[in-house]
Amino acid sequence: MQINTPKKTKSNVVTMGPPETFEYAPSIESTEIVKIDKQNKLFINGKFTAPKNKKYFLTYNPATEEVLAEIAEAQTNDVDLAVKAARKAYTGVWGKLSGKMRGRYLYRIARIIQERAREFAVLETLDNGKPIRESRDIDIPLVAAHFFYYAGWADKLDYVVPGKKVSSLGVVGQVIPWNFPLLMAAWKIAPALACGNTVVIKPAETTSLSILLLAKVFQEASLPDGVVNIVTGAGATGSALVTHSDINKVAFTGSTEVGKLIARSIAKTSKKLTLELGGKSAHIVYADAAIDQAVEGVINGIFFNQGHVCCAGSRLLVEESIAEMFIEKLKTRMNQLRTGNPLDKNTDVGAINSKTELTKIKKLIRTGIDEGGDYFEATGKIPDKGYFHKPCLFNNVSSAFTLSRIEIFGPVLTISTFRTVQEAILKANDTPYGLAAGIWSEKGSKIHKTASQLKAGVIWANTYNKFDPTSPFGGYNESGFGREGGRHGLFPYLEIK
Ligand code: NAD
Ligand code: MN
Repeated sequence: MQINTPKKTKSNVVTMGPPETFEYAPSIESTEIVKIDKQNKLFINGKFTAPKNKKYFLTYNPATEEVLAEIAEAQTNDVDLAVKAARKAYTGVWGKLSGKMRGRYLYRIARIIQERAREFAVLETLDNGKPIRESRDIDIPLVAAHFFYYAGWADKLDYVVPGKKVSSLGVVGQVIPWNFPLLMAAWKIAPALACGNTVVIKPAETTSLSILLLAKVFQEASLPDGVVNIVTGAGATGSALVTHSDINKVAFTGSTEVGKLIARSIAKTSKKLTLELGGKSAHIVYADAAIDQAVEGVINGIFFNQGHVCCAGSRLLVEESIAEMFIEKLKTRMNQLRTGNPLDKNTDVGAINSKTELTKIKKLIRTGIDEGGDYFEATGKIPDKGYFHKPCLFNNVSSAFTLSRIEIFGPVLTISTFRTVQEAILKANDTPYGLAAGIWSEKGSKIHKTASQLKAGVIWANTYNKFDPTSPFGGYNESGFGREGGRHGLFPYLEIK
């Protein structure tokens, strides 16, 4: 977070600290480094290839509503071409290559991503709407880190499961969402390639540009043709990919609804499947927590990436004795968050990724208000143009509320209180999801007691939204199954005997 410094106001009086938000001179990141092609083709067999029926759709900058480029819409026949290229690359080259050589390619890709990091960060911010501070400091460095990490595993697969023989699966079909476009691509591609598989991947329809730039990195790294193929398009393209008969494994990240559809559509096949789905993660704050750090943690937990985070700490459970004070502090901090131009280095909350998402968020907020929720919206301005929403919260939300049960996927926090550890755990687990959770307390024993009873894949203590390629990530129940990251992230891409 940007630190507020004292500043002279118009009346020449020096003011300090909350609740005032200081005026900042804009500090806009230049977009000169990025060249966006007007028309973007599919990436098949190492080459940019026009879609057979010549159909294209538009991708927008959600912060300005301006068209950025045309993106190819892959149909079933294009997807088939991509799968054939991946199969040929698997049987011809990649499946036979030594782990050491595969690792070399992955290291090379990682280094080029680092070299071109600024270009990737600006492009991601333009197409997705996330603050440049986040794409520059979080998304892109983590993308490179993921390739570095799995490069290291490529020649050590004999040690993944001690005493067991492992081998690659073949052609992997992957479908990813729009909230961390390039990072989700890295989470999918790096472990798949390290294990010796080839890939056909489909990005989300609103955010295709950064993965198409990654295709250029693959070319620059001389990755053999067909090892990674990129088919752009919407749900129908994704469906054509996951149901293709020559795919050995499907990896999907996205909504629980589509995850279930995919699981059903491949149920009668021998395809392996991993699903990384939605969440409604609980963020528990005990009265003995370091309050100001916890406030910052809760803010980061829900407003990072406009709340478009599968593991967002969207349900705050705060101990009753401190609730009033804690919520006041939260509101003060929310009023200081700057929502606006994602290219401004001062921006905390960027643009909502699309008009559809913004409409969905507004509709859910309306539902919350209609159900009698105690609604608070941060002060401060948002731009007139573009898809923006101010950080907001609902206080006193019981589990009967719609908002406490379904994933909003936006900058909306719901709050309820508890009195005992047992009540906190019960409330935290009262969800069909189980992706992540956060605990704030100064007492290690209380953290362990709580964590051991929470049903969530990732549990953070006295921090939130910490990601590392060495650490497995994934969910329980309606949040899906399978892990990405760490040694566990290799299992879904290997035959283990
Ligand atoms: P979505 O399910 O609508 O779309 C995800 C992807 O699936 C997109 O590429 C989309 O084009 C594709 N798709 C849509 N219908 C399809 C079909 N019938 N067959 C195959 N593919 C299809 O989700 P979204 O709105 O883009 O993303 C937000 C969701 O993703 C949230 O629920 C969020 O929690 C989840 N998510 C989960 C994780 C995780 O690791 N668990 C990470 C990021 C996002
Ligand atoms: Mn876009």
